[in-house]
Amino acid sequence: MKAIVIREHGGPEKLKLEEIPTPEISDTEVLVRVKACALNHLDIWVRRGIPGIEPPHIPGADVAGVVEKVGAAVRDIKVGERVVLNPNLNCGECEYCQMGEDSLCVNYGILGEHAPGGYAEFVKAPARNVIKIPEHVSFDEAAAVPLTFMTAWRMVVTRAKVRPGEDVLVLAAGSGVGSAAIQIAKLCGARVIATASTDEKLAKAKELGADIGINYAKADFDKEVWKLTNKRGVDVVIESVGQATWQKSLRALARNGRLVTCGATTGPLGETDIRLVFWKQLQIFGSTMGTRRELQTVLNLVWAGKLRPVIAGAFPLAEAAKAQEMLEKREQFGKLLLHS
Ligand SMILES: [Zn+2]
Repeated sequence: MKAIVIREHGGPEKLKLEEIPTPEISDTEVLVRVKACALNHLDIWVRRGIPGIEPPHIPGADVAGVVEKVGAAVRDIKVGERVVLNPNLNCGECEYCQMGEDSLCVNYGILGEHAPGGYAEFVKAPARNVIKIPEHVSFDEAAAVPLTFMTAWRMVVTRAKVRPGEDVLVLAAGSGVGSAAIQIAKLCGARVIATASTDEKLAKAKELGADIGINYAKADFDKEVWKLTNKRGVDVVIESVGQATWQKSLRALARNGRLVTCGATTGPLGETDIRLVFWKQLQIFGSTMGTRRELQTVLNLVWAGKLRPVIAGAFPLAEAAKAQEMLEKREQFGKLLLHS
């Protein structure tokens, strides 16, 4: 089969299309013919190198396709079915898995990071990671959901517990997590303030339900939040940017405010004024990926048309490098996809 194989870490030029053997499946696995694979920032970290994870890699966590083959012990999944994959690879046995906390698993992995992913014609996955797609949903739409919507749902609903009437600041509205978090916070009944680097992206954020947009290239978003909320601040900040925004995100919070972070795309070392944390009695939550149940919840809402994955564009598999370059430059609004 054709696949993008990373033999050594580095820039986009390390994404090379190769002819490699199609994966063999075990009795409990399923082989999926990839129709669409969505890109994530995770893919860029995998390409640049994550400590402890050695090449070769086939990246790609978000896969939709058609079942090509099923293992001998697999029931309920049939060849030819349209499916999307749950990217969580958790052991099912540790203390956290026993509690249903898949992304806290001590042996946790992600498809395309710890196992060969969807930048390929075929990908294999455990049968329990396979979820059927209803007829009215396209492969592109299904592939654009799992990682970012599951992550955003856990941040907004499970961790921050956003309530009706609250003010929620969503950073990086054009990112996958951002565009999902805007919709989920609206579904929770919040007023959503979104930040982005261009007015075009803010217009799109408003189409998704954001009430107010702040162009952070033109103004400091913490000061804008201060004005917009009558010097009160927001109840919740949804963070994924990291170092470049951390201090401003904390300053944008109201007393008793909650900040949830799932990423540090601009760097890992944000400075925290501890006085701000105790005096305003702030709460800071970490969040990563989500559980099978959280994924099923967001998928059901997408199937029902209540949440909408935003698709920015698609590239053929051979142009994976071009697609990742676009993602790195943050030129797009929404998800980029690869078609095998
Ligand atoms: Zn586990």
